[in-house]
Amino acid sequence: MEMPKPNAMIVSAKSRIVARLRKLLPADAVIEDEAETRAYECDALTAYRCPPLAVVLPRTTAEVSAVLRLCHEENVPVVPRGSGTSLAGGALPTADCVVLGVSRMNGVIETDYDNRYIRVQSGRTNLSVTGAVESDGFFYAPDPSSQLACAIAGNIAMNSGGAHCLKYGVTINNLLGVTLVQMDGTVLEIGGPFMDPGGLDLLGVICGSEGQLGVVTEATLRILPKPEGARPVLIGFDSNEVAGACVSDIIKAGVLPVAIEFMDRPCIEATEAFAKAGYPMCEALLIVEVEGSPAEIDEQLGVIKQIARRHNPVELREAEDEDQAKRIWLGRKSAFGAMGQINDYMCLDGTIPVSSLPYVLRRIAEMSKDIGLDVANVFHAGDGNMHPLILFDANKPGDLERCETLGADILKLCVEVGGCLTGEHGVGIEKRDLMNVQFAPDDLEAQLRVKDVFDPKWLLNPAKVFPLASTASRRAV
Ligand SMILES: Cc1cc2nc3c(=O)[nH]c(=O)nc-3n(C[C@H](O)[C@H](O)[C@H](O)COP(=O)(O)OP(=O)(O)OC[C@H]3O[C@@H](n4cnc5c(N)ncnc54)[C@H](O)[C@@H]3O)c2cc1C
Repeated sequence: MEMPKPNAMIVSAKSRIVARLRKLLPADAVIEDEAETRAYECDALTAYRCPPLAVVLPRTTAEVSAVLRLCHEENVPVVPRGSGTSLAGGALPTADCVVLGVSRMNGVIETDYDNRYIRVQSGRTNLSVTGAVESDGFFYAPDPSSQLACAIAGNIAMNSGGAHCLKYGVTINNLLGVTLVQMDGTVLEIGGPFMDPGGLDLLGVICGSEGQLGVVTEATLRILPKPEGARPVLIGFDSNEVAGACVSDIIKAGVLPVAIEFMDRPCIEATEAFAKAGYPMCEALLIVEVEGSPAEIDEQLGVIKQIARRHNPVELREAEDEDQAKRIWLGRKSAFGAMGQINDYMCLDGTIPVSSLPYVLRRIAEMSKDIGLDVANVFHAGDGNMHPLILFDANKPGDLERCETLGADILKLCVEVGGCLTGEHGVGIEKRDLMNVQFAPDDLEAQLRVKDVFDPKWLLNPAKVFPLASTASRRAV
């Protein structure tokens, strides 16, 4: 993975730039010591690391604006950072950049139950948004598996999703407005507390823009009344393809579960050893959850169980109480941790039309065999958002490169069947050079021009999202 050479003039001006930053922020909000900046040298894509020039941890929109104005004046690149859980290298620094972390901006600004919204500072963690409203019977729907740690800022930048987004939609469907600071320090209010404010839909442009267009400092989020109840069912199958066909049939039938999650045998074995959730040892399993009143739950699960039986499941287990429901979810929620215990892994994130699931799973198995690296599959199957985990040994020469090749081939397969390169983790550096597979040159150019408007000097989150070759001339200016 190639990154542009750091700007030597900026690196040599470090002490002057840091001294100027110190005039804008409290002493503990500027980190320059190399041992301390190392804490920010990577995100959850740990294969790539680079300590930044400095790190700033502002507490207010005004402080963010002042820092960006200074960096704009000094031509210093800025990498916005939430909690650093990106799996695509979205928050990877460069040696000449300032990392702007919003983790100290974690307050609740306003809660309005009558109009069902909450306004928070963007560094607040996803789970603690629900934490702020759950005692009043509300919740914030998008639930990335990293929700204990990841920040709303990162969720907006990556348009994150989660297991329960099949019914409630991903971040963009639950976001009403943001405060955005542009690279030159200008503060913009985009959207507001209500649906569909006037003007162009700039919120749709900002959400999913991966820190390319500005720094989000505050967000207005839709909150929902908690459902009356929810119940999962676990369905085991003797082949991946049959499980894939079952997902496709459930979606076709028109029932709308809140979640349909898929795990294959390598993943089941790893999570059983790790979390001991009592999963059956089969080739593939689905966790399907529905919610509503007891009668609504019975009706929806009735349809789902009927469809599942047509696919000869080796296990069909409906949760009878809260405890059993938790056990059904336990393995799925521990899956990533469990895989990490066995080996290094690269977590992919492509989407495909749900009807292609059986074909794509078969091709992934063939490709994995050809290249000699195991792949475990755990993903949000209901919306076709695949997360193949490629297992490799980072200490074995050549393994990372083979893993990158297989990863690229799997993502190309997703595009080939009509899907796309990323469902929720973003492009970052990981899929940057595959953007040419997804987009024609003119389509890509249209996206580059949006970046030109918001960040004409191309200083925000450098060398991410777009193929390096197509941005070289812009970055050089
Ligand atoms: C174990 C694990 C499980 C995961 N599960 C899921 C999942 O189920 N669903 C899912 O969608 N993702 C998942 N992720 C990926 C990750 O958690 C999400 O992408 C998350 O939204 C990143 O949030 P963050 O605060 O950590 O952002 P960071 O990693 O800090 O940054 C992510 C991107 O956002 C940009 N950014 C950060 N702050 C700002 C800001 N204030 N303004 C503008 N841009 C900003 C960064 O520059 C970067 O491009 C998972 C990650 C891990 C490690």
